[in-house]
Amino acid sequence: MVEMRLIDIGTNLTHASFDKDRGQVLRDAESAGVSPLIITGTNVEESGHAQKYAASCNTAAVKKCFSTAGVHPHDAKTCNENTIAELSVLAHRPDVVAIGECGLDYNRDFSPRDEQRRWFEKQVELAAALEMPLFLHERDAFDDFYRILKKTEKAPWIKKAVHCFTGTGRELDAYLSLDCYIGITGWICDERRGVHLLPLLTRIPAGRLLLETDAPYLLPRTLGKERRSRRNEPKYLVHIARYIADILGKDPALLAHETFRNTCDFFGILQ
Ligand SMILES: [Zn+2]
Repeated sequence: MVEMRLIDIGTNLTHASFDKDRGQVLRDAESAGVSPLIITGTNVEESGHAQKYAASCNTAAVKKCFSTAGVHPHDAKTCNENTIAELSVLAHRPDVVAIGECGLDYNRDFSPRDEQRRWFEKQVELAAALEMPLFLHERDAFDDFYRILKKTEKAPWIKKAVHCFTGTGRELDAYLSLDCYIGITGWICDERRGVHLLPLLTRIPAGRLLLETDAPYLLPRTLGKERRSRRNEPKYLVHIARYIADILGKDPALLAHETFRNTCDFFGILQ
């Protein structure tokens, strides 16, 4: 029997590193209690792949995967006049549960910043028009990101999740003031760069916390012998949940129950 049931809100299952054993990765996650998975869409093409894969896993009765449709800020430079229409078509498919990931990333600047802002705003508008939740990415771009996100105050029905939150206390408070959900990854298990997040965890209301692996990235450094390769997998969400429960001094089963509920509420799934 699995010890707890979790949903990985952010897993890049269409990534090439899963090409050889994607089905096994999904089964291993399920055996560990991590099901369903939300597959992150990072551009129009990948969002299409994510949707197709999710649809192929599901039956009318059992939903094993859902996906998001969006363009990551790194890929903003690939957007054109058809992009929003293409995302909109995908977003109407039953397995697609959010717009994103979208946002701003000034850490790597893979796309020019004005392009990032332009396509982030358009995706926020799309989510508002379709009344769908927003799956958000922000790295080293808080001020511009917050300024754009604040416009959603006029559309309070849009749910927002800041995925892989790694920011400061001031930034966390600002996101919570916009009623954002906060996604926490195995970044928190990193003794070199995740320590500042530990005291912030207690400031996230129980009803706003979401859990994710961001696999194949961000393998939790505290996994020890459990990890056989450098590739992260959705099954390791159990490790992340236990680590967070320990920091919060909370029963892992209760944390799993709360975050499962939050995830269903956020994406509007399994209800
Ligand atoms: Zn991201």
